[in-house]
Formats: sequence, C-alpha cells, structure tokens
Amino acid sequence: MANKGNFYTLSLSDLKIDDSIAEIGNEMHGLMRELYPICRSITGDGVRQTLNILQQDIPLNVHEVASGTKVFDWTVPKEWNIKDAYVKNSKGQKIIDFKKSNLHVLNYSVPVHKKVSLTELKEHLFTLPEHPDWIPYRTSYYSENWGFCLSQNEFKKLVQDTYEVCIESSLEDGHLTYGEYYIEGEHSDEVLISTHICHPSLCSDNLAGIVLAASLAKYLSRASLRYSYRFLFIPGTIGSITWLCLNEPIVPKIKHGLVIACVGDSGRFTYKKTRQQDADIDKIAAHVLKDSGNDFEIIDFFPYGYDERQYCSPGFDLPVGCLMRTPHGEFPEYHTSADNLEFVRPENLAGSFSMYLAVLKRLENNKKYVNQNPKCEPQLGKRGLYDKLGGPDNGKALQFAMLWVLNQSDGKHTLRDISERAGLEFDLIKEAADVLAEHDLLKEVGADNEWSH
Ligand SMILES: [Zn+2]
Repeated sequence: MANKGNFYTLSLSDLKIDDSIAEIGNEMHGLMRELYPICRSITGDGVRQTLNILQQDIPLNVHEVASGTKVFDWTVPKEWNIKDAYVKNSKGQKIIDFKKSNLHVLNYSVPVHKKVSLTELKEHLFTLPEHPDWIPYRTSYYSENWGFCLSQNEFKKLVQDTYEVCIESSLEDGHLTYGEYYIEGEHSDEVLISTHICHPSLCSDNLAGIVLAASLAKYLSRASLRYSYRFLFIPGTIGSITWLCLNEPIVPKIKHGLVIACVGDSGRFTYKKTRQQDADIDKIAAHVLKDSGNDFEIIDFFPYGYDERQYCSPGFDLPVGCLMRTPHGEFPEYHTSADNLEFVRPENLAGSFSMYLAVLKRLENNKKYVNQNPKCEPQLGKRGLYDKLGGPDNGKALQFAMLWVLNQSDGKHTLRDISERAGLEFDLIKEAADVLAEHDLLKEVGADNEWSH
C-alpha cells in the first residue's frame, strides 16, 4: 500500500475484482443504456451530453476546438446538431422517424425540408438488403449530403407518392468536443487509453468502448500506479488527429497504449499489434491472452481501423495496439441497428473489463532489474530465502524462478521476457523478483529517477 494524498490506495495488482466483476458488468451495461438514446456524431451536443454523463463518474476535462482549426493535413469540421427528422407520405403519415431511431438519419446530413418524388427520395435512402430487418448506420462527414437509412422491408413498402422530407439539423461553425482524463502515477511515463465517442445508438461499436474506458478510468483512479494514465474520449479519426496536433509535446511520454473498440460482443479477443510489431504492449497483450486459457487471435498492424492508424502514423509511430473482441466489419451486426443493447451483454462487458485490467496489471508489474550480485550466483541459503518459500512444491518452482530472474536481470530483460524464456508463469517470476528485491539482490532499472526506455 502507498499513500496518495489523504487517501490510502492499493497498488493495481492488489485490487481484487473477482467478487465484484459481475456487478461491474451490470454497471457498465447500465451506463450504456443511459448513453444509448443520444445521437452522437464527430461533433455536436451528443458528444457533450455523453461527456457530461461520464463526468458523473470521472473528472473528465472537456476540451472544445473551434471549427476551422488546422490540424496537420485536416481541418476541424463544422459542428453538426440535429433536433428532428422524418419522411411523411402524402397522407401526412411519418414513414421514417428519427425519434424512433437516430440511425434513421444519414449522420451529418445537412438540413432539408422539401417535397420529393419517390425517385428522388430513393437517391437518398440507404438499406441493407442482406439483413432486411436492420437499419444500417451511414455517415457523410466530409461531403455535404442528406439521407435516411431504413430497413429493406420498410423500403419495399414505398409506393409512388409525393413525400415530405424534413431534416431539422444544423451544420455551422462551432467546435469539436473531446474528453480527457489524466491520472498521475509515480512516473511521468504514460499509458494511453483511447476510445472513439462518435457513434449514435450502436453498442459493441462503440458504446461498449466508451463505458469500458470510463470504468477502467474510475477503477484506476483508486489505485496507486507506477505509470501515469491518459484516457481520451475522442471522435474517431479527426479526434485523434486533433489531439496529436495540439499535444505534440506530450506525445514522447506515451510508452504504451491501447485503443478500445468492439469490446461488447461475446466473441473471442483479438489483439491488433502496433506498427512497431514487437513493442512491450504487443508482448504483454499476447502473454496475457495466452495465459487466459481462452481462444484468441493476434493480428498484424494495418493502416485502417480505429485511431491506432493515427497514433501509429510514421511521424509518431507510438506503441499503441488495439484490443478488441470481434473486430469491426467481422460481425454482421456491425454498423447496424442490430448492434444494440441486447447484442452487448453485461457479462461480455465484464469479461472485456477483466482482460483490459489484466493487461494493465501486467504492464504495471513488468519491471526490469539489475542483479546486484552478478558475478556468479549469490548464496541464497545464507539469506534464509529457502525458509521463506512455503510448501516444498512452490518452493522448488520459486527457486527456479529466482535463478532465472537473477540470471536474466542485466537491465535489459523485463519480467515478462524472463517469464517467456523460462517458461514459467509471470506471477511466479514476479514473486521471485519481489523476494530478491527485498533482499537487495535486485535493483529496479530507473527506480531512482525518470525511466528511460
Ligand atoms: Zn464504427
């Protein structure tokens, strides 16, 4: 335990979640239900409202960046807001109604109010014939357009008529809004956790990521941490570009990072590696997934997907990976009305929370040491170490682990590296290192001052 301000806090590895994990899943699902009806986009009040709700749990800083701001090769767009939208037939009946689902409107539609023929209307309609009951999610951020999305079955009912289309939206100079929460740890080196916040009523992509990031932030804020943590709640693509452009001096502090996306379905975990391919976070995520005993997949970096594509652009090349369940585009519900509150279950969210926490714990514990008695083995017996080793079975394993840690601790290998090379569990290697450090046989690299990686 360590003191932090007036509060006593636990180290991350001491925090126990086993009893409360189901409850955490339910809480996350509850928050998701609260956020679900809000019509979010890459800018506008939907994002602000979402961040305000998150502020009830975590002290997020909300930043506003003016439309027109140049951010590298991009420009912060005009702000989009919407009050209502519908299509009425000539009898005045609403046949498409934004109030029933915010997916019905092409996200970022410009305002429109006019009468159109069926032919003209159809030019502005989007459906998903392969899933005739589902409403697709479509956007038009960077080219001005208007449109409606509806199920193929509803589309088929349309007859020759004169239709009234109305989109009561605004696209005007305003701001891009994002949320940021920084948790100060023992070191200024940072772990970045980033999630997009721009999707309307869609759950695995993306409300699950929002509530997972918020829950992790809340949880970590109670712990005593070695690393500092920066949580970003940003609109996809333009948000990470904006953040990177406005915060370039901070960027070198980021030593590890994860983009959270698609964490709400019941599929196995998929880890997408960093551009570097062999960063610590890549090794740790792979190690933790392997230790979980469950099926998983590791995929190489590719330059599309979520905000990792900006963090991993060559001018930054940050060690930021992406830990998902079923990736975007690989589940049929993706970007449709079927990615809803029933599709994402509390237990899936709880499992994703546990997996992220396991990766972060391992990151926190993945220390590097220098053997203080490197010329031949130190005499463990005379230090009474054998007596401390508990039962004979664990004792023997711990003894092997100590020999491995002593041998490999030349300041270059992390405990994870040693665990892998020795073929011994990480927790055992960590226990061995803790015992050896207590007996001054190991010194942590960079323990006295700033870490240098
Ligand atoms: Zn998406």
